[in-house]
This record gives sequence, structure tokens and C-alpha cells, in this order.
Amino acid sequence: MHEFTLDTRSRSQMLLITDRVQRLVTDAGVQRGSVTVYVPHTTAGITINENADPDVVHDFLAQLDNMVPWEQPFYRHGEGNSAAHVKASMMGSSCTVFIDQGKLQLGTWQGIWFCEFDGPRTRKVWVRVVGEP
Ligand code: ZN
Repeated sequence: MHEFTLDTRSRSQMLLITDRVQRLVTDAGVQRGSVTVYVPHTTAGITINENADPDVVHDFLAQLDNMVPWEQPFYRHGEGNSAAHVKASMMGSSCTVFIDQGKLQLGTWQGIWFCEFDGPRTRKVWVRVVGEP
């Protein structure tokens, strides 16, 4: 398993990590297989979505805030970050992408996004590449 870290800069932020994952796949020498990207945190997640228009990221985070506000009168969790926990589970903790001819098999407009919901923090991402050389 490989690990890399990310320094996030705001409470909610999406960071494109496609290139870092591709680099790990290339270094692993796997031509055909799959890669799983896993986020070992309860207030951050991972998703695959559009990599081209930055307005999509803006709208994505704005709509998540709209659906899951940071403060609600019924929240009980003493740490005060219930919204971050909920959003993390909405995104999920992992994604798996196929590898063919040594390349991530993503759609033209797809990228792998790390999703911070309780930053700024230093975060870990775990990556496992499996397949044939
Ligand atoms: Zn918490």
C-alpha cells in the first residue's frame, strides 16, 4: 500500500488527485488491473466527478452546504463537526478505477477528488494498485 498526504486550506475543499494516483500506478508498473484510493478519515471523503470546470466544484460544495448546514439545533455531537461527518459519508471513503495499458480508465471529464469537510488539516490518502505488469 502507498500513502501520501494532503494539506487542505479551508473547511470545505475539493482537491484533484488524479495525477498523483496515476503516478503511483506508473511507479507500480501495473499495465492491467485496478487501483483503490481510500481516505482513512471520518470527516473527509473521495469522489469521481468533473475535472474541467471549476464552477462544478463551487456548486458541488455549495449544494452540500445547503443540504447539510454546519449548524443545526438538533446536532448533539460534542466535537461540533456533525456536518463534516455526514458529508464524508455522502461522498464515501474510497473509489476504485480500472487500469488498462498502464493508464487510469476514467471518462474524458472525470477526475478523482479528495473532499475535505473539516479543514484545514493534514490528511492521508491510501492507495493500493493490483494487477499484471
Ligand atoms: Zn466529530
